[in-house]
Amino acid sequence: MSTKPGLPVEETLTVDDRLGLVTFEPDEEPFIEVDTDICKRCKPKPCLYVCPSAVYTLDGDELVYNIEGCIELGACSVVCHKIGEGAISWSYPRGGKGAAFKFG
Ligand code: SF4
Repeated sequence: MSTKPGLPVEETLTVDDRLGLVTFEPDEEPFIEVDTDICKRCKPKPCLYVCPSAVYTLDGDELVYNIEGCIELGACSVVCHKIGEGAISWSYPRGGKGAAFKFG
């Protein structure tokens, strides 16, 4: 790994490196739901571009999503309701479930 002069190694981790530090405790209850019928009329599909975990992908023309790698950023919901068609219902996983981040 290359480092930038003057920065500690921890500050030069790539997004992929940082995501590799996240652990997950799956929540059996879905905390993200998407009405993919609404997505059919969404032209910009900004959810495809803001999620670092690639929760949203295309299968042909169809939007598909897999919440297993979600790091609970919430950007998908913001852009969906600001730029998209408002198809995402998003909440945090129940207490103790979901992503756990390593700090320090
Ligand atoms: S931004 Fe919202 S409405 Fe548009 S494709 Fe993504 S989830 Fe569907």
